[in-house]
Amino acid sequence: MIISPQEIQNRLLEWFGKNGRHWIPWKLKKDGSIPKSGESISPYEIWIAEVMLQQTQLKVVLPYWEKWMEFFPALTDLAKANLEDILFVWQGLGYYSRAKRIHQSSKKLIKCFGENSCQDPASWPVELDEWMSLPGIGRSTAGSIISSAFDLPIPILDGNVKRILSRLFATEKTLIKEDKRLWELSSLLISTKNPRDFNQALMDFGTIICTPKKPSCSCCPIQNFCVAYTKYDPQHFPKKQMQTRKPLQEIGIGIVFNQNGELLIDQRLESSSMGGMWEFPGGKKISDESIEETIVRELKEELGIVVRVGAKLLSFEHAYTHKKLFFTVHICDWISGKPKPLASQKLLWVAPEKLFDFPFPAANTKIISELHKHLCI
Ligand code: SF4
Repeated sequence: MIISPQEIQNRLLEWFGKNGRHWIPWKLKKDGSIPKSGESISPYEIWIAEVMLQQTQLKVVLPYWEKWMEFFPALTDLAKANLEDILFVWQGLGYYSRAKRIHQSSKKLIKCFGENSCQDPASWPVELDEWMSLPGIGRSTAGSIISSAFDLPIPILDGNVKRILSRLFATEKTLIKEDKRLWELSSLLISTKNPRDFNQALMDFGTIICTPKKPSCSCCPIQNFCVAYTKYDPQHFPKKQMQTRKPLQEIGIGIVFNQNGELLIDQRLESSSMGGMWEFPGGKKISDESIEETIVRELKEELGIVVRVGAKLLSFEHAYTHKKLFFTVHICDWISGKPKPLASQKLLWVAPEKLFDFPFPAANTKIISELHKHLCI
């Protein structure tokens, strides 16, 4: 079978014209209209959205992006904001290091290009290596920002594009091993006339037609070029990595009240994962220890306080990328010792009804909701 890049481009662009998601807000001009071919639009909104979209679906990202634009409508607002406010807006979206890297990048951009220049799309970087030099921006994210903002022919290789290409060319190796070849294929296919539309067409096509499970091959405009469809079963592509089981770790958490009815929260070290977020104190259970003993030991080690472990509030499992944690949360009485941030950057006594004023990781927000129910707040 002869694969014609030109024909694939034409068919995908035609499909995109009729079926694409032309409403995505960061792909539009400020007045809500669709940019013309070759016209530049503001990269700021696209950049924020592209980072939010890493490991997260568009429908989940949309409300966070809208909230972000209310709080930080321009690069200068973002660069001046403090990290805690940024984490507060990001709260619930997960992978918090992304928010920290956006903040670092905003300061770097302002330093390189000046406060006023960033109002004009033409003054933003257009080179791949300039974008990739920013924290948290890989080649595909950079390509998507540049092609979407400036309509330049820079290829992308996100999860959707990898899947489409691995099926189109029936690549035998797993995605990690095929990375170099898939980049070559994406570069080969990109349209030089309509790169913005073409990259968006690929993303929309992967979301709507060439989906991970049960792709809609019967209405696929490039079906006759697809090796996986004509020779094999498309669902067998891309080839899967051997799955490793996520290890499960038990965590004991203490909700420590003082005589004023306030409870103790601590702020994670900047250098740790989810740095700058707030959480309830606690830590990992070690073998042969009961969860109550874990809480007593962790609070002694991390806060220098002695507590009496009381009733259990809740327990639940929470999955992260590489691990699963099983949390058990107990209400505790504070017996002695002045709390000190021995393993965190700050401690605060907070009234329970004020907890949602602080940025907490998703697992901790479950605890807050259950605590509010328990306290009838
Ligand atoms: S034929 Fe099916 S598997 Fe092949 S590109 Fe089209 S939707 Fe994807």
